Amino acid sequence: KTASKSEIQQIIADNSDYTFFPWNFQKGWTPVTVAHASGVYLYDYNGKRYIDFSSGLFNVNIGHGQQRVTAAVAKQMQEVAYVVPEQVTRIRGELGKKLADISPGNLKKTLFTVCGASAIENAIKLARIYTGKYKIIGRYRAYHGATYATMSVGGDSSKLAHDAHQAPGFVHVEDPYCYRCPFGQEAGSCQQQCVAHVERVIEFEGPQNIAAIIMEGESGASGCIKYPPGYLLKIRELCNKHNILLIVDEVLSGFGRTGKWFATELHGVVPDIMATSKGITSAYLPLGAITVSEPIAAFFDDKFFPLGLTNVAHPVTCAAALEVLKIYEDDHLIENAAAMGDYILQRVKEMQQHHPCIGDIRFTGLLGCLELVKNRETKAPMAPYDENPEGMKVMIQLGNKLKELGMSTFLRWNFLFIAPPLCITKEEADEGLAIIDEALFLADEYTS
Ligand code: PLP
Repeated sequence: KTASKSEIQQIIADNSDYTFFPWNFQKGWTPVTVAHASGVYLYDYNGKRYIDFSSGLFNVNIGHGQQRVTAAVAKQMQEVAYVVPEQVTRIRGELGKKLADISPGNLKKTLFTVCGASAIENAIKLARIYTGKYKIIGRYRAYHGATYATMSVGGDSSKLAHDAHQAPGFVHVEDPYCYRCPFGQEAGSCQQQCVAHVERVIEFEGPQNIAAIIMEGESGASGCIKYPPGYLLKIRELCNKHNILLIVDEVLSGFGRTGKWFATELHGVVPDIMATSKGITSAYLPLGAITVSEPIAAFFDDKFFPLGLTNVAHPVTCAAALEVLKIYEDDHLIENAAAMGDYILQRVKEMQQHHPCIGDIRFTGLLGCLELVKNRETKAPMAPYDENPEGMKVMIQLGNKLKELGMSTFLRWNFLFIAPPLCITKEEADEGLAIIDEALFLADEYTS
């Protein structure tokens, strides 16, 4: 599975001349040409191996190359590849039932979509229809997708290019970002002004106008900003008090990533609407979903349900999902995520002692990130919160170094993410951590 130098150049040229690289500069860098993948490893056409320390985009949870999924998909394709949404299939019902079984509390009925953003879009629409209200409260440091409504409800700086055309009805609150508390407090000794802040925003915006608050199950690509103890529960209570729905975005944090099926379980919270994607199929095929509480499901028992997509409950993607969910259980991957997350966290804490660039370490199971700083006292970030190439210089160099040493992972702003597939072994974790350890000396040179 290797290719000659000229073939590799052709692959890169075809990709860059005819297809866009999302969220990236289009020229001036060399992509990895992935030839095949297995477990936690990717292999390029030169035969070079890369350990995947971000599970692709936090989605290949079961690891690469699982042929059980290939077989399930092929079987479904042979039986029937597509039916219209009002026709039923065995696989759609089985998957719906399985999701109800593993979802928290009274979450029961699912609408399947095609990706994370389309799940969030539909969650927003549903919340507005069900409550008859229109405002949605989101967080500044949150990512919910790249369509207009999902970009508008998130706060990721990549949305700035579109701000003039934001979808209406979205309001933002500050994150409970304890390492850089927006309220100038020290974690542990504060009165959780982050919660009081959300309540003030609710009062200013008018609870009678607010359909829902959306929170990630556990913060992901925005920097794994962990909820302080009790925070999410207090948000749930605010929602109950003001008759507002709680939408939890488990697109990234769901399906074992945090050591539980869903991250909300760690907080003792049951949302009204849960959005999922990524790990639902471990990215073997694209699929999204919203699973709603029994009262919301019952609300539509005698009403027209005005939501849908051509590829709702696509049988082949449903077959991939059902097999992936079985693999999580058969291979005890969620338990492994919890155990390996603890192990990696300890190892990274040891690394912090000889790497002054590691400012903060935030892990929940195998959803982790290192926040890199130029100075631990001042917490000056290693890169700013924007897409300016000059500011990103050190992080780009660090990414190149990791690649050179044989690692594929996700870097954003001043964050280095550690979120390998849930099947990772201790030996593989050690191999990846040794690469990060070596590469971080490069970032240390920029500290003072
Ligand atoms: N929500 C969260 C928390 C995500 O991390 C993402 C993607 O990274 C999305 C939603 C959007 O998912 P998609 O890219 O499949 O539209």
